[in-house]
Amino acid sequence: MEFFEVLDRIKPSGPGNLSQSIARPQSQIPRQQSRALVIDTPEKTVITVGVEQAGLDFEDFLTRISGRLVGAEQANGNGQFWATEDLQFGMGSVAHGPLNWLHHERKIIGCLTDASLVQRQTASDGAFEPAHIRADSVMWSYLFPGETVVVREAAAAQKLYYSMECVSKQVQCAGPSGCGATMEYLDAHNKTEKACAHVRERASARRFIKPAFQGAAVIVPPVAPGWSGANADLLRRVETSKEGRATAAFTDDEAMAAQILAFLGNGR
Ligand SMILES: [Zn+2]
Repeated sequence: MEFFEVLDRIKPSGPGNLSQSIARPQSQIPRQQSRALVIDTPEKTVITVGVEQAGLDFEDFLTRISGRLVGAEQANGNGQFWATEDLQFGMGSVAHGPLNWLHHERKIIGCLTDASLVQRQTASDGAFEPAHIRADSVMWSYLFPGETVVVREAAAAQKLYYSMECVSKQVQCAGPSGCGATMEYLDAHNKTEKACAHVRERASARRFIKPAFQGAAVIVPPVAPGWSGANADLLRRVETSKEGRATAAFTDDEAMAAQILAFLGNGR
């Protein structure tokens, strides 16, 4: 095992001159057998680990996100609805799906890694959290450094969200203004004559029966998620440097880029 040179890593601090006080103990260390080098002086304790333990930080390459992907029993802002049994059915299609940027289907920035179904929970004050799918994902930060800066800033501002993508076996016209009719997914999606008028006009909630989830989008300001409860966060918060903000440039959608950069500029 090789060690960093201790004297390279600490600077003399004040009158005690630390580098001199550790010079003798260091020479007595049996370097090949040690897992760590511990030097205790009146001024300071220094612990030095082997080179192989102080390599690249993988967290700089992968940004890990965790959050709520899709909720049951309440239609979201887009009129999409799932019963708890629908989420149970679709659970197996979540993990390993693509993670894209703002629903740009060709801009895949990472992948979903894990999913779990969280059962409905009711708090003592009567407030309840509906059953929902919680999903973990990783973002390929080494391929998307600019987007990584935006995601970190959005997380710090608690404005980072997921948005699901799915198809289903059938669609049911649901909700208070729904007629209960059931139709094939493509008829509902394409608003054909086989779909009821409420679904064609998007006047009712649409329940997705036996869904298959096809991935998720990362949502950042100024875009808002279909489900306001789909908040996500980083597994490890990272402060964004000013230099990092400066590199957060986009070229594929200039209007969107301008709004995102405005979000970054406003800070939190
Ligand atoms: Zn209907």
